[in-house]
Amino acid sequence: MWIKKIAVIGAGIMGGGIAQTAAQSGFDVLLADITGELAAKGFSRIRERLERRAAEGKISLKEKEEALSRIGISSRLDECRNADLIVEAVVEREDIKRDIFRKLDRLSKSETIFASNTSTISITRLAGATRRPERFIGMHFMNPAYVMRLVEVIRGLSTSEATTGIIKAVSMKMGKTPVVVQDSPGFVSNRVLMPMINEAVYCLQEGISSKEDIDTVMKLGANHPMGPLELADFIGLDTCLEILVILEEELGEKFRPCPLLRKMVASGRLGRKSGEGFYGYG
Ligand code: NAD
Repeated sequence: MWIKKIAVIGAGIMGGGIAQTAAQSGFDVLLADITGELAAKGFSRIRERLERRAAEGKISLKEKEEALSRIGISSRLDECRNADLIVEAVVEREDIKRDIFRKLDRLSKSETIFASNTSTISITRLAGATRRPERFIGMHFMNPAYVMRLVEVIRGLSTSEATTGIIKAVSMKMGKTPVVVQDSPGFVSNRVLMPMINEAVYCLQEGISSKEDIDTVMKLGANHPMGPLELADFIGLDTCLEILVILEEELGEKFRPCPLLRKMVASGRLGRKSGEGFYGYG
């Protein structure tokens, strides 16, 4: 495979997980964020996870060292110019993503493939910020990216067969199962998942049950490994809200975010990443 070097833009929950997965699968990785400090934070979270796995005997010390040695960090988009594949995993904001892709398009070699890990934004519209829509695709990893086996591969209007084939092969090299879907708001995963999370927040807001009981109902009743409120905390309440706002805009009012979710985000309770969401993570 000619894809050897992958740049990951955004060193948060998803970018860090994608960078780790890529490095453990033998790719050279550059992990970039707005500042060197944020990129370094992302890298140290990867190191902690790999050290934990090595201490538990799940990977060897050599595997851990090799994976870490394959990851570089950066705060500059121009340092991503030699990547064969660029996976964008910054905040779920179309203006920010378009701006990054517009800049990357000018800096990168023409054969570089661009992928977005967006949860719901149109791949066709993001591709429109570049002059390479045939080499632009959605590569939607699930959280945590180093555990979950699915990659939803989203084809924009102009995404080529060749690009789709390469991204399926890269996903499989990462140990994932790629599923190709067409470009539509929320794709399949979030179109089905987010209404469930939103309804769980409504159940809490309306006092139908406690947060623990809502989660227990779905864990024991539907065999979900996590309840919807725990899962929302895990995803990030800001990310859930941003996804629902886009789904409502594009698909109508059945996706309107619950007022309690808006309040939680406005008060800075974003879930695990801020230390508090529906549950506390002190
Ligand atoms: P996050 O808030 O944890 O991380 C986002 C990172 O992007 C931050 O480190 C931020 O500093 C960085 N960033 C912002 N603007 C940037 C810029 N201009 N250049 C470089 N870096 C920049 O968010 P996340 O949960 O990792 O989500 C990232 C993307 O992945 C979003 O599009 C989200 O919808 C998608 N996603 C999230 C999940 C999830 O469960 N959290 C799952 C699948 C997909």
